[in-house]
Amino acid sequence: MSIRIDEELCTGCGACQASCPYGCIEIIDDKARITDECTLCGACVEECPVEAIILEREEIKAEKMDISQYKGVWVIAEHYNNKIHNVAFQLLGKGRELADVLKVNLSLVLLGDDFDDKLEELGQYGEDEIIYVKSKILKDYYSDLYVKTLTELIQENKPEIILIGATPTGRDFAPRVAKRLNAGLTADCTGLTIDLETRNLLQTRPTFGGNIMATIRTPSSRPQMSTVRPGIFKIAPKTNKKAKIRKINYDYKQKDSVTKIVKVISREKIKINLEEAEIIVSGGRGVKSKENWHIIEELAEILNAEVGGSRVTVELNWVDHDRQVGQTGKTVSPKLYIACGISGAIQHIVGMQGADIIIAINKDENAPIFKVAHYGIVGDLNKVIPALIEEIKKTKKDLKKNNL
Ligand SMILES: Cc1cc2nc3c(=O)[nH]c(=O)nc-3n(C[C@H](O)[C@H](O)[C@H](O)COP(=O)(O)OP(=O)(O)OC[C@H]3O[C@@H](n4cnc5c(N)ncnc54)[C@H](O)[C@@H]3O)c2cc1C
Repeated sequence: MSIRIDEELCTGCGACQASCPYGCIEIIDDKARITDECTLCGACVEECPVEAIILEREEIKAEKMDISQYKGVWVIAEHYNNKIHNVAFQLLGKGRELADVLKVNLSLVLLGDDFDDKLEELGQYGEDEIIYVKSKILKDYYSDLYVKTLTELIQENKPEIILIGATPTGRDFAPRVAKRLNAGLTADCTGLTIDLETRNLLQTRPTFGGNIMATIRTPSSRPQMSTVRPGIFKIAPKTNKKAKIRKINYDYKQKDSVTKIVKVISREKIKINLEEAEIIVSGGRGVKSKENWHIIEELAEILNAEVGGSRVTVELNWVDHDRQVGQTGKTVSPKLYIACGISGAIQHIVGMQGADIIIAINKDENAPIFKVAHYGIVGDLNKVIPALIEEIKKTKKDLKKNNL
């Protein structure tokens, strides 16, 4: 696909510039110029009053696929240090819902080693079956072996829906598997439902910088693949049901991969992944400086919470990048989220609105954060937070005194 401006038609009116969500159009010498950052989204094409913007698409001739052969919902589990990533359990919850609507089986697909004694417990999250691909080398994440194995499994078993965590690992293998299968993949979905008439998966995700929600379908090819960020869906409840276990041994050797994992460097520095935290205290630009950031850390410490931040605070280097909450950061769903000096831009809200309880502290009573907050404190965080810390200390002391 390519885009170009017909300079003879262009009047330099600027309508295209105003319509570009990514700021990729400049007006130079009364003519529009598209910069290299253009994503080819096409938003400008319709806005041009003189039809001077031309988006050229190559025609792709895909073979017609018999989609009726595809049945079942798969969740791909990823793991680190022999522990399954929580997002797999969240996807099992959503996967069960989708499978029930479609009246098909739900399978958990696990590529690994050393999971034999964990399979029974793993099979209690509502799935009908666990497909366990066992190979010594797969105790670690080998990108090319994942892509090869999953592609083969999918070609053989033909599931209609595949759900994958939008983690760095999932984001690595999912598009490559989709490419090999000629399948549609929708990244970073925040909602998944079924259109029963067509059995299509309706995949909703934010687009244009989070300002619009788009619902995407893949009507003519299978499987329908979606990645979902951790924290979007709730973990599937444990049941008494036991999943059927299908074990497939793969005799992979080191030479089968183009890479060799020499050492896995653990991320010990991060106490708890934000996505798994039960309480998060997040700071925004309202904290005012790096020197004042300790106020957020102190409130977090007394609550045994993790520290988060808005994108601004990451850009200002007040907090590490892995602590960013929001559209381009982490999606979190803690029991308690305290937003301090955060205005509540949509790109931040999409990352934390799943919290059970949201408390906002902001000196502006009209700040949008109060629209999603369950409790709001209008005031200067430099006064409110120390007062809160004092109260929490007192309450803790009283509880201890009364042996509670
Ligand atoms: C494509 C894209 C992706 C983005 N992704 C993200 C993302 O992942 N996460 C994210 O957070 N943002 C993201 N943003 C940026 C987002 O649009 C906002 O700019 C950002 O969230 C604002 O951060 P903030 O609330 O800390 O700062 P501001 O919007 O400047 O708000 C500061 C708030 O602090 C309050 N305040 C000031 N002083 C005090 C005080 N003493 N006491 C109490 N309150 C006070 C103010 O009233 C104000 O409401 C993204 C933007 C784009 C375009």
